[in-house]
Amino acid sequence: MGKIKVLPQEIASKIAAGEVVQRPESVVKEIIENSIDAGARSIEVEVKDAGKSLIRVTDNGSGMSEEDALAAFERHATSKITTYEDLENVASLGFRGEALYSIAAVSQVEIKTRSVDSDTAVYLRIDGGKREEVGRAAHEVGTTIIVKNLFYNTPARRNFMKANPTEFRHIYQSVSRYAIAFPEIEFSLVSGEEVVLQARSNTVRGRLDEIFGDRFTDSLVEFEEGYDHLSVKGFLGKPEYTKRTRGEQFFFINRRYVVNKAINHAVFSAYENLIDKGDFPFFVIFIDLPANEVDVNVHPAKLEVKFKDERSIYGAVRSAARGSLVRSDLVPELTLAADNGRFATRTTTESSRGGIVPVMINPNQSQRYFEGDQIADAVDPLFSLRFHRPDDKMSPLASGEKRGGEGQSDLGIGPRASVIYQLHNKYIISQILTGLLVIDQHAAHERVIYERTLKRFNEQAENTQQLLFPISLNIDAADLTIVQEIIPDLNKMGFSIKLFSGSTVVVDGVPVDLKAGRENTILTEIIEDYKRDNDLRLTPREKLCKTYACKAAVKAGDSLTIDEMESLIDQLLQAEVPYVCPHGRPVLVKIPLLELDKRFGRI
Ligand code: ADP
Ligand code: MG
Repeated sequence: MGKIKVLPQEIASKIAAGEVVQRPESVVKEIIENSIDAGARSIEVEVKDAGKSLIRVTDNGSGMSEEDALAAFERHATSKITTYEDLENVASLGFRGEALYSIAAVSQVEIKTRSVDSDTAVYLRIDGGKREEVGRAAHEVGTTIIVKNLFYNTPARRNFMKANPTEFRHIYQSVSRYAIAFPEIEFSLVSGEEVVLQARSNTVRGRLDEIFGDRFTDSLVEFEEGYDHLSVKGFLGKPEYTKRTRGEQFFFINRRYVVNKAINHAVFSAYENLIDKGDFPFFVIFIDLPANEVDVNVHPAKLEVKFKDERSIYGAVRSAARGSLVRSDLVPELTLAADNGRFATRTTTESSRGGIVPVMINPNQSQRYFEGDQIADAVDPLFSLRFHRPDDKMSPLASGEKRGGEGQSDLGIGPRASVIYQLHNKYIISQILTGLLVIDQHAAHERVIYERTLKRFNEQAENTQQLLFPISLNIDAADLTIVQEIIPDLNKMGFSIKLFSGSTVVVDGVPVDLKAGRENTILTEIIEDYKRDNDLRLTPREKLCKTYACKAAVKAGDSLTIDEMESLIDQLLQAEVPYVCPHGRPVLVKIPLLELDKRFGRI
């Protein structure tokens, strides 16, 4: 007698089911996908006990004939593909023909389904994969599936389920994803007696507001880019909101929600230097491309995909995201709440979100963001920032540096209108057409120097000013290899450094834009900071520029002349990303005139 036996069908089906049905959310997901594939315009999901005891999904899609309804529960039974080649061009969400079979194997299923050419619905009841009842029932055209007592016959799986809040959170997130990707379909999610989600808007923007709270999309930048046979579009969280919003990430490939490390990396790298490392931006990204350029048959739950050409998709996503972040007006607006004069924020738990249970989404974190309408009230879309352009004279801040270009910056440099004032030797206050602009002088200068220094690596120009009295420094033996490694880059940046015998370096030139008085310490500080900065996303050059910018920039406490401030603003406006410093902190804050008018009771 051989030792190897084919498993009985009942066991085999339970094992197979485990691949597709891992938790209540998997059931919800598969059934919703079937409803979408059936052309439904409305999908209602109802769960009890986070789906453990009951999941009911009703759609108004095509429904099925009796013959199809019976066939649908067979393994590998599908109407969506017929040949192997069809797999290359799958346009539907389903195609593996496994979901209904798997769900039925590990639960008690009832289905009522009626197609257009029938007056009544087929009724089926299947327990643990065994057909128990076939009959007729009343039902609109469409399908209702009820899944009861999930994993009732697979105790190991049943015990593996998490507590209700966790399982429900998965369901909520899953339904939300479809609601975002399919705004032409109405979705509702009911848990017990409570309507938890109602998605009725027919735009992605509207759906995001319905899911994440009124005017949530005010904190997002919308973008759309077309490439060869690829389009990338969606919404990106503005950097200054990353700490106030939940950093959720959504990728949809041809409207299928997927998890993909490479694209994730592409977007995160687009946020480089815009947010603090460790912060998670919110984004929703739709990538549309021909079906045959992506393999969706990688994973039984279809959550992962493989791209034929991952590199070009990576590039497209990164450049689309980066471009839109850089172009958009990312200046945070300060709105003063009438009661306490602080940033106006609110927690969702206090807001009226009609039965939505944000506590379940993330029990540990109260969601905070700007009160939407306060922002909208204050936004004057006609004018963003308007500064005057200072006379073209040299300022100590810009010593040796060419003055900025002639063209209008994205921020819209207008006619001379500025009144510039330095507040506590720390902030520069400037009048703009729509109100007041507050600039953090250190952060602004850091940004300017950072970008300028990065550019120097690609320039041939001489950026060194010779020191009258060269400085010699003793380098720690432990630091010597680091210093040797970065000397070529430091030279490019404008330092003139020579390594002498043993552990002595001599600095006889420093970058032209270095403020007098800092030459002695700056190099040691740069080396120290460079060693400490372990932001892996930065290249060594970027790290060097970041620490150099931080050290070379004016500090809070430095008094600036009007000329210096004007020059700084002028240079800032030429920067690629004037809104945040290289560490991700904001550089500028707007206080709209309207906001002041409100405070003074003028409106
Ligand atoms: P797949 O979706 O991969 O084809 P399923 O097991 O999920 O496999 O479904 C089997 C078949 O049952 C589908 O191909 C489809 O023809 C039919 N079906 C399932 N759900 C519905 C529904 N809600 N409305 C109409 N037909 C459905
Ligand atoms: Mg399916």
